[in-house]
Amino acid sequence: MNNRRLLVVGIDGVRFDLLPSLHTPHQDEVAAAGFLGRVEVDPGTPTMSGPCWATVVTGVSVVKHGVWGNRFDGHRLGVFPDFTTRLALGHGLRTLAAGGWTPLFVARDGGPMFAAPSRLSYIGPTADTPEAWEECDLAVATDSARILAESPELHAAFVYLGAVDETAHFLGCGPAYRTSIETADRHLGTLLAGLRRRPGHADEEWTVIVVTDHGHRDEGGHGGRSPEETTAWIAACGPDIPPGAPAPDGLRHADVAAHAYAALGIPIDPHWSLDGRPFSASARR
Ligand SMILES: [Zn+2]
Repeated sequence: MNNRRLLVVGIDGVRFDLLPSLHTPHQDEVAAAGFLGRVEVDPGTPTMSGPCWATVVTGVSVVKHGVWGNRFDGHRLGVFPDFTTRLALGHGLRTLAAGGWTPLFVARDGGPMFAAPSRLSYIGPTADTPEAWEECDLAVATDSARILAESPELHAAFVYLGAVDETAHFLGCGPAYRTSIETADRHLGTLLAGLRRRPGHADEEWTVIVVTDHGHRDEGGHGGRSPEETTAWIAACGPDIPPGAPAPDGLRHADVAAHAYAALGIPIDPHWSLDGRPFSASARR
């Protein structure tokens, strides 16, 4: 087995245009070691969390995975599984999926999207409020960092943070929203510190991908086609990504899962019919 490892951190609903004005040193560190690029939600994909996250983690478009909203009934994730499931079931790798948005992790509302990672850590919010979601994300980040640090066999992880999106829905994209994005960046820092605490870290080659699913209107809310809603972003670094290079042309959500396989040295089987492709030419073996 090679020494390639992968962490994907999904932060829900972070506006691309606000990033330069915010204090996000950990995301900046990832971007400086690789790239930060703008992503347009595919024209046929609703700017909603369910469809966008499904495309991120499966590498296929909405017409294939069939997640059209925030209820996942009728999905085809069995045919187009998320990368933590495919890596675990098809390649014998140890994977983790962690977070607090119920249908991603639990058999409710047509979920779970993460069908069979080796390890699943669901820590839901105690209430449907921004404060409860902040507590939830803190617990998710702390627990996931511990798992990353203490599980030498772990190859790949997806960690979901939801408080930023919840804050925008309740309070719009004002000061509380900006503070929540900066808090999410601290959670990213906690996760990166977890990686560095691994006993074998010096011998491992980590790819780190940070991604958001959609933006928000100024007053909070998404689902439409305004630039504020359709603009997402990806930051990534790793052994196949030249530091400081421009973001790949035509960067898409589906590229995340494609790069996840490539980053772990797993050839992409044409039968998976992925719509994304790895970020860098050197990874497109
Ligand atoms: Zn979302």
